[in-house]
Amino acid sequence: MHLSGTLLVGPEFEPCEGRLHVADGTIESIERTTVNSDAIVMPAFVNAHTHLGDSIAKEAGEGLSLDELVAPPDGLKHRLLGQADDETLVAAMARSIQFMERAGTAATLEFREGGRDGVALLDRALAGQALRAVTFGRGDPSVLDVADGYGASGAADRDFTAERAAAADADAPFAIHAGEVDARDIDPALDLDPDLLVHMVHATEAHLDRVERESIPVAVCPRSNLATGVGRPPIAALHDRTTVALGTDNVMLSSPSMFREMAYAADLSGVPAAEILAMATHNGAQIAGLDGGTITEGAPARLIVLDGDSDNLAGVQDVRRAVVRRASVADVTDVLLPE
Ligand SMILES: [Zn+2]
Repeated sequence: MHLSGTLLVGPEFEPCEGRLHVADGTIESIERTTVNSDAIVMPAFVNAHTHLGDSIAKEAGEGLSLDELVAPPDGLKHRLLGQADDETLVAAMARSIQFMERAGTAATLEFREGGRDGVALLDRALAGQALRAVTFGRGDPSVLDVADGYGASGAADRDFTAERAAAADADAPFAIHAGEVDARDIDPALDLDPDLLVHMVHATEAHLDRVERESIPVAVCPRSNLATGVGRPPIAALHDRTTVALGTDNVMLSSPSMFREMAYAADLSGVPAAEILAMATHNGAQIAGLDGGTITEGAPARLIVLDGDSDNLAGVQDVRRAVVRRASVADVTDVLLPE
């Protein structure tokens, strides 16, 4: 099969008119030629940070603090989850996964609570769906038997030395939230030599130096941070120092649409559109050890097709900026997510 239109090619997402030839789920060749098509073809998204488990609690708890919302065991999220049966939780996660696929997301780095049982519920929600979830489990280190990695809440909550060691033993990635509410848990998180930091809203210059020196990638979730009132992540400063990827965080707080996250991140940070696109695609793929995230020959054909002549996008001058700041799920005409 082939796809024609404006192709956002390579790691710079260079707009080029032409035709993509796809065979066996792989981009076989990129033909630069004049085509009669308004389509825009871009790589599918990799969401670098989600909590799908609270899909039952969308928009709950307006005005509550971060602790009141999500801190275990008594935060609103955990009370609502505790009241719901497994079928309800699985069905709600499956609806979020379907939405993410329709919104062009190929893979997500999912931070799953509830230990091994939590991972089992997620697996039920993923059954038969095309979205790939790289799961970061929580709780007892034995969760690493069923999860891809360990996802710690934060170094201020308790000591994660044993969990960190267990992840290393299992040759699995160890990720941890840091600097969401304040800066105090950032150095303790870095002391654990994590493979991924999440949030870093309150990173200081010294923390940025350390992140750069130790080459630790960061997942930022700017809409979530705005919703919980903790501040704005220094996306441009982090981007100067290390690999940054965008995540949409808790479904209860923010719709898991990478279009929305890109638009907000771009306006908040002033980072050029091509680099925001990288944060929404191949940077997350690289962090998760997945291939793809760019339109290059030989890459997996996980792609989004947009209608460049939709009422929203017609007349666009700068395609990359339009995709980042203006496009939405309503402009998506097709999503290819081969195995
Ligand atoms: Zn999180």
